[in-house]
Amino acid sequence: MARQSTLNFARSGAHGAGRSRVSWKHHQLANDISSRFHTVLFGVAGEFTASTQIAAFDLDGTLIRPKSGLKFPRNAADWSLLRRDTKERLNTLIQTGYAIVIISNQNYSGRPAKLEEWQVKMGAIAERLHDVPFICIAATTKDENRKPDTGMWGCLQAYFESLGCVRPDTKESFFVGDAAGRRGDHSADDKNFAKNAELRFYTPEEYFDA
Ligand SMILES: [Mg+2]
Repeated sequence: MARQSTLNFARSGAHGAGRSRVSWKHHQLANDISSRFHTVLFGVAGEFTASTQIAAFDLDGTLIRPKSGLKFPRNAADWSLLRRDTKERLNTLIQTGYAIVIISNQNYSGRPAKLEEWQVKMGAIAERLHDVPFICIAATTKDENRKPDTGMWGCLQAYFESLGCVRPDTKESFFVGDAAGRRGDHSADDKNFAKNAELRFYTPEEYFDA
């Protein structure tokens, strides 16, 4: 059974009219968290409610894909939701007590303009998922915060803890990702991340098409 804490993130954010709907809190996290997770980018979209039950999703190839049909996106505008009912599915999870968290490996080490562009893209995704509050955590370089290591899950736990709200319960939570080590998958990083963090794991097909 989920326990929830309402966190009024939206009003603490710096996003105004016409700006990104994601409030990037990378530099606003408590000092001990930002020093431990300084390569992690942490964003909050909408009126997020923390829960012991976390529905966590990889981003690329799980929630979105390049609109162009190419393997890699051409630019920050080259994306679309992978499934037509993504927003409804996420909303249903929230209604049943889950909090939505996106956990994504990105790699913009030494390319701050690209990282900035990606943050704008996340704002556009939040616009498209309007009314679906979520936290987005991204590893921005190749270090211990990158999947399959569990740094991003640790960052989420530390963040909830710093706010004195409920703690994510791995037994009540799950992770969905497309890097499952299947034939044609680029890696098994998502599957191994779930294993390392002791989270139930589903591929997007297992989760969304079931
Ligand atoms: Mg992926």
